[in-house]
Amino acid sequence: MATQSLQKLGSNLAESNKQLDILSNGIFKNGELPTFKTKISETAQFPLKAKALEILQINVGYMCNQVCDHCHVDAGPDRKEIMTRDTMKRCLEVIKNSGAHTLDLTGGAPEMNPNFRWFVEEAAKVGIKDFIVRSNLTIIRANKKYHDLPEFFKKHNVHVVSSMPHWTRGKTDKQRGNGVFDKSIKALQDLNAVGYGMPDSALRLDLVYNPSGAFLPGNQAAMEKDFKKALMEDFGIQFHNLFAITNLPIARFLDYLIASENYEDYMYALVDAYNPAAVKNVMCTNTLSVSWDGYLFDCDFNQMLELPVNSPSKHISDFNKTLLEGRDIVISQHCYGCTAGAGSSCQGVVA
Ligand code: SF4
Ligand code: SF4
Repeated sequence: MATQSLQKLGSNLAESNKQLDILSNGIFKNGELPTFKTKISETAQFPLKAKALEILQINVGYMCNQVCDHCHVDAGPDRKEIMTRDTMKRCLEVIKNSGAHTLDLTGGAPEMNPNFRWFVEEAAKVGIKDFIVRSNLTIIRANKKYHDLPEFFKKHNVHVVSSMPHWTRGKTDKQRGNGVFDKSIKALQDLNAVGYGMPDSALRLDLVYNPSGAFLPGNQAAMEKDFKKALMEDFGIQFHNLFAITNLPIARFLDYLIASENYEDYMYALVDAYNPAAVKNVMCTNTLSVSWDGYLFDCDFNQMLELPVNSPSKHISDFNKTLLEGRDIVISQHCYGCTAGAGSSCQGVVA
């Protein structure tokens, strides 16, 4: 189980260039597997184009109270990248004027940013239709100062989307650290207690599942049923939807794949499961991702690979909707993670 980020450990894979090298060479360079560009060209879907902006996803920092094995952010307590209030103010201007119907705050653990509550209060005033906060759940129980988060989320009508890799302690703790399961269960009960996740409640509570090893997620609807049954029977917990997300081969999941000698098999599995119908709805087509220091990316994965948007509008301070819409999306082999099977995005399947 990881206890420090790759960056803190001084690992080669903390460098995005090194990750991109791995993804571009080897089996993709020698022609064993087609590149993502070749694959989507077969159905005339290259270049992948951005459509109208619907979702603004803002990463408010890479600091996290956990160090999960699969983390694509390489987040952890040792990461110090934190969005400043100034950058948040620029984001607020864009939220007001961009026309996006969804605001999605992520991290790290977004709640650890010292300006998180201020930002939520200000953003909630804009009246955006769907205001998501991605919470790892354990942060709610990590320290007394976070215990009132369920009430705070409720006050601002935040849609809570939480990671929960399994309904059993063993599988959850293996991926996310000892004690994570018990804290997550308590946090879910706290959220239920204020009304989150109840069948007719407008307080949305969704869970995110991602596989704990080098395999692809199973059927999302079937898993949701299993999660609902087990969490209700064992702990009386209710939630709305389960999103099944494929692990993308970057950052700590790439490190795990290489260390466990699963990298090539996993890439074969992703390419085998390629579904051309999923391409048109991958999340970069309607989403823009903002990094802690205000730079713009096609998605959170491209942010971590330091692949900026292919547009003259590169930073939140020079956001230009017209220039950004219709841009060519920057792709590499990690994109196969979004088009495997029923597809995968921050909101589950896409096809
Ligand atoms: S996966 Fe989420 S909870 Fe785990 S270390 Fe990364 S950001 Fe934190
Ligand atoms: S990884 Fe990002 S750029 Fe690639 S298909 Fe997925 S959302 Fe789009």
